[in-house]
Amino acid sequence: MTSGPNVAGCAGCAARCCRKYQVGITPRDVRVLAEGTAMHPSDFVRLLDTDKDGFRLRPGGPAKKLYLQRSADDSGCVFLMEIASGEARCGVYAHRPLVCSTFPMSLQGGVVTVRENVVCGPDSWNLFAMDLPNSRRELTLDNAARAEHREIIQAWNKRIDASGREATPYDLYDFLLRYTPEAAAQAQED
Ligand code: SF4
Ligand code: SF4
Repeated sequence: MTSGPNVAGCAGCAARCCRKYQVGITPRDVRVLAEGTAMHPSDFVRLLDTDKDGFRLRPGGPAKKLYLQRSADDSGCVFLMEIASGEARCGVYAHRPLVCSTFPMSLQGGVVTVRENVVCGPDSWNLFAMDLPNSRRELTLDNAARAEHREIIQAWNKRIDASGREATPYDLYDFLLRYTPEAAAQAQED
């Protein structure tokens, strides 16, 4: 998960973030990736159980979170392209999830900071050399996407409970791709 080996802070790094982390994504990321790559979400999303808030495929069933799939040998994100010995590049750079484009930054009280204990290693990032307004803009977008994510989980689970039937991952992906705030508002009223 990364700004990618394509930016200065990542020069010389073998994309450790894209290899190590399970990359959790939002419905906004699913839509952007599907539209940008013409891939179906089933080709790049995997659903993993969570004990936190998540999408249920049947009433009372386990909650699930959205993650990027990993390569067949589990060596990294499914979109990571090896380009030379030890070097790699994000294959969907323009459409990558916000958690990737903002990594390893976070917003603390409106201030952009570098997260601690990340895989980059100490002193990899120098805030003074960074485009902080852009980081702030993307982190703000990510916060909005996460808020929308929570709304969509509620709308979907309400629909599952009302149907009393089991849904498939494909049903969920269709719902994510077709989601609009208006549809969610309608679901809340129903
Ligand atoms: S989408 Fe790109 S930046 Fe994000 S984890 Fe995958 S390869 Fe890395
Ligand atoms: S681990 Fe850190 S330095 Fe390495 S590619 Fe990822 S964000 Fe860049």
